[in-house]
Amino acid sequence: MSIKPEEISALLKQQIENYQSNADIYETGTVIQVGDGIAHIYGLANAMSSELLEFPNGTMGMALNLNEDSVGCVILGDSTDIHEGDIVKRTGRIVTVPVGKNLLGRVVNPLGVPLDNKGDIEPEGYRNIEESAPGIIARQGVNTPLQTGIKSIDSMVPIGRGQRELIIGDRQTGKTALAIDTIINQKGQDVSCIYVAIGQKASTVASVVQKLKEFGAMDYTIVVTAFASEPAPMLYIAPYAGAAMGEHFMYQGKDVLIVYDDLTKQAAAYRELSLLLRRPPGREAYPGDIFYLHSRLLERAARLSDEIGGGSMTALPIIETQAGDISAYIPTNVISITDGQIFLETDLFNSGFRPAINIGLSVSRVGGSAQIKAMKQVSGSLRIDLAQYRELAAFSQFGSDLDQVTKNTLDRGAKMMEILKQAQYSPLPVEEEVAVLFFATRNYAKDIDIHEVAAKSNELITFLKDFYPNILEKIRTDKQLSDELTAQLDEAMQAFLSK
Ligand code: ATP
Ligand code: MG
Repeated sequence: MSIKPEEISALLKQQIENYQSNADIYETGTVIQVGDGIAHIYGLANAMSSELLEFPNGTMGMALNLNEDSVGCVILGDSTDIHEGDIVKRTGRIVTVPVGKNLLGRVVNPLGVPLDNKGDIEPEGYRNIEESAPGIIARQGVNTPLQTGIKSIDSMVPIGRGQRELIIGDRQTGKTALAIDTIINQKGQDVSCIYVAIGQKASTVASVVQKLKEFGAMDYTIVVTAFASEPAPMLYIAPYAGAAMGEHFMYQGKDVLIVYDDLTKQAAAYRELSLLLRRPPGREAYPGDIFYLHSRLLERAARLSDEIGGGSMTALPIIETQAGDISAYIPTNVISITDGQIFLETDLFNSGFRPAINIGLSVSRVGGSAQIKAMKQVSGSLRIDLAQYRELAAFSQFGSDLDQVTKNTLDRGAKMMEILKQAQYSPLPVEEEVAVLFFATRNYAKDIDIHEVAAKSNELITFLKDFYPNILEKIRTDKQLSDELTAQLDEAMQAFLSK
């Protein structure tokens, strides 16, 4: 076989022309100290704030402290395999989560990894967990109600789509219950829900998921959970991850409801990792930027203007107080960021008034403009009536003989309170709420024994559904009580009482 020199040189030339370098260039650093879920890394001079860093065993970390000669990084996952001297790679990305409708019905961790053994999730894309909130031009006022299905909330502390309403109260006062009922009530309302469980026991989250499934609410809900046993950074990023998943839907023009259960635990997790990163402690040992932690999260809830799709994200953050102290550091911070609060009280809860909402201390600063007219018509005087009742009730404990007017006010108020009681997992459609509140405020319960009022008000709903479905239908479609409809309702109430 003869070798032609021209052939060889042609081949060589071809090789040289098509030569491509496959070298990967990473910027790397070295772990100089690791412990308590924190690593200090030397030599990542160009790392960005909250950039993802990769450790040799595949574990990811997030750069939080950018010092002159080192980077303080929290480890997102197991840190037992990471040693001094390990090489750390920059990824050039900041922390992202998978987003999209395939996440609905799933339980995921704050990095979007499924925890429910239902296989992989095909995402529509990825979003940064930290994203700046929409500006003022991109927003519009709250104008559509978000019905919680809970009588006392929809009538007196109404919530609008795009609003941020805080649920605050001591432990075991029904905070989670309120949020879950609200999610259940979004069935058929075209609202995607996200439930972010922060620092809760796995068993608690499992029972919440179970209940959501039972009521068919899991179909439109994503559960993001960072369990109590997980490292603090996971608890810290969980709400931002949830918000990113919600924003994806919001920017598609859809309505979203997101529950952060609860931000007290997130603040504690953030305090933990701030102290470990040696940031200076401030009041209650929280770092200086603890306000920003929650404000940048809650600002992301918005009602977008029609030009950019008109989507909305409604946020229900939850805060746990100690002995009803709403003037502690974290509660006051979050109260000042949100558009109102629902305050739950242990005393009310124990006395059987559930949901245990303290109506005097609960407010909604923007939701009123989103209430439907029929609801406004029936609940207009409710707040004042109940305030009057509470004042008189406290006062009359000392007096024995009361005049008839006082007695009547007391009786009416006590019965209204009975009617506002509501069992867990039984949110009501708005037309039924209107009918029941009509019954309460028009004093139709006057002659009913106080112990039977709550049961009677439930019977009323069944009665109306059976015999006057057209009235309920009309309230639902017209959204207001015309004179004619009011007369029909009066007639139905009479029929119910004489039954
Ligand atoms: P935690 O501080 O532990 O998170 P929480 O404030 O979230 O508690 P929940 O877990 O929602 O409170 O409720 C506490 C208990 O009260 C639960 O057993 C729940 O079933 C019950 N409960 C809540 N709301 C009602 C209600 N409206 N009617 C009757 N029981 C209720
Ligand atoms: Mg709870």
